Amino acid sequence: MLEIKNLHARVEGKDILKGIDLTVKPGEVHAIMGPNGSGKSTLGHVLAGRDGYEITGGSVTFDDQALLELEPEERAALGIFLGFQYPVEIPGVTNMYFLKAAVNAQRKRKGEPEIDAMEFLAWVREQVKTVKMDVAMLHRGINEGFSGGEKKRNEVLQMLVLRPRLMILDETDSGLDIDALRIVSEGINAMRSPDRSVVLITHYQRLLDYVEPDVVHVLAGGRIVRSGGPELARELEDRGYGWLDNAA
Ligand code: ADP
Ligand code: MG
Ligand code: MG
Repeated sequence: MLEIKNLHARVEGKDILKGIDLTVKPGEVHAIMGPNGSGKSTLGHVLAGRDGYEITGGSVTFDDQALLELEPEERAALGIFLGFQYPVEIPGVTNMYFLKAAVNAQRKRKGEPEIDAMEFLAWVREQVKTVKMDVAMLHRGINEGFSGGEKKRNEVLQMLVLRPRLMILDETDSGLDIDALRIVSEGINAMRSPDRSVVLITHYQRLLDYVEPDVVHVLAGGRIVRSGGPELARELEDRGYGWLDNAA
């Protein structure tokens, strides 16, 4: 599904990713852990197609399509969802407008007609109940004035509505309280299926208590220095990162 080969990337003239190899198969959940400054968020941003990152080598394919050549919207239309710790606020574009546009972009790509507006509203309202959000938030600007917890709920709502095939979530650093952690993990678990994959970037062993990963990778100094099963995350919790070769 997702194949990253020898990926190199640079930020502000500084080499950050120094040869990332990662293969994620359908149905798998991969956790990417690692010390601060190791390049985890950079990897997420490069996959999202954010500005400011120079790709200096390697390739990324999603279903055999060259991902790095696509615009962020095209990546979304392919079924890739990117969630970030600090989601952008987009005043003036309502949540509902965004969701409908995103779903229609996916349908267009598959040659399907636009979704019926009334039917879609009813379906979205159902999902809103699942994440225990206020329906009124559908008609507010995206994340505009939302609290941290509301942004997290909104992120999960977007996942539930868009039904992405690949979710890349960067939940690093501090800031996720226990409620947000639970909302995110319940959302991810609800979405787990044999044809959907997740790349979960996290500092938190705690998150992995809720979402059991199939594979855990440690990113250090811009490279994956160790991969293993869920027990690797527990080992890191006990011992930190210092014992790993090459881990800064
Ligand atoms: P992590 O998410 O693992 O903590 P990051 O990917 O955020 O690490 O950062 C990796 C390295 O890239 C750090 O040394 C950071 O200072 C640097 N970096 C990230 N973004 C920028 C930027 N916009 N300008 C300069 N340096 C950056
Ligand atoms: Mg960091
Ligand atoms: Mg980070």
